[in-house]
Amino acid sequence: MHTAYITHPSYLLHDMGDWHPESPARLRAIDDRLHAAHLFDCLMHREAPRAHRSQLLRVHDAAYIDFVEAASPSEGLHALDPDTSMNPHTLEAAFHAAGGAVMAVDLVMRGEVANGFVACRPPGHHATRNQAMGFCIFNNVAVAAAHALAAHGLARVAIVDFDVHHGNGTEAIFRDDPRAMLCSTFQHPYYPFCGADTASEHIVNVPLPAGTTGSTYREAFTAQIMPRLEAFRPQMLFCSAGFDGHREDDMAQFGLVEADYVWITEQVMGVAARHAEGRIVSVLEGGYDLSALGRSVAAHIKTLAEL
Ligand SMILES: [Zn+2]
Repeated sequence: MHTAYITHPSYLLHDMGDWHPESPARLRAIDDRLHAAHLFDCLMHREAPRAHRSQLLRVHDAAYIDFVEAASPSEGLHALDPDTSMNPHTLEAAFHAAGGAVMAVDLVMRGEVANGFVACRPPGHHATRNQAMGFCIFNNVAVAAAHALAAHGLARVAIVDFDVHHGNGTEAIFRDDPRAMLCSTFQHPYYPFCGADTASEHIVNVPLPAGTTGSTYREAFTAQIMPRLEAFRPQMLFCSAGFDGHREDDMAQFGLVEADYVWITEQVMGVAARHAEGRIVSVLEGGYDLSALGRSVAAHIKTLAEL
């Protein structure tokens, strides 16, 4: 098997209310589409383990982990920020979301698969060291990248965040760690209203205006991200894989389509092939139009799996 597909039953139990766009239905839409596209049986399926506290501590403060554990309600919803709340199952989902990303790193580093996709909830890229925000509690992709550095001895990893929102939490976590490059494309000005002027030698932020379509996106990615990735020579690549830039997704105002997500995936795979023995771990972030999300994830995974 070329590609691992990692998920966990707790991801479907984290539910912030019927009105909330970050819903369990997102994962069901992905699952449905993988079956419809005859991809499901072509993947190595694994159930995510619970992340160890020591793995979270690489990117989160101990006091923050304690705070999240203490906030877990026995019934109803407990709000962590205006957009992010916990139900009685959220704590387990959050631990298993980070754990799934760690598992993907281990599977890829052991050579059991070339790459892996983690179909997790809650998402992670807005979570900072000590703050939940924007539907995110633990920063799953950051936990995974830190695991690759600490547990597998890699010297350089790169995260490509193509969610329509800036990966502010990931940037904040790795701001002072030049071993981790973040390349983030995002609608600007837009939530979380940062990232346009915080670039550094290893933080590559590409703000793009509302209305950005595939051709403009690809030009910017080719000009601003690819040379930086090539020069960095990452030994493993991560995707913060958000699909809310799809033209059918009304969370934001990009005009990307499935073919653009295939193209982005191919660019990441090219860098991985040249520098990282093909190693890629892709972690689900946003994507809220259920049909567009399912189709886009299927296209992304089909590309990863070279099917
Ligand atoms: Zn997003």
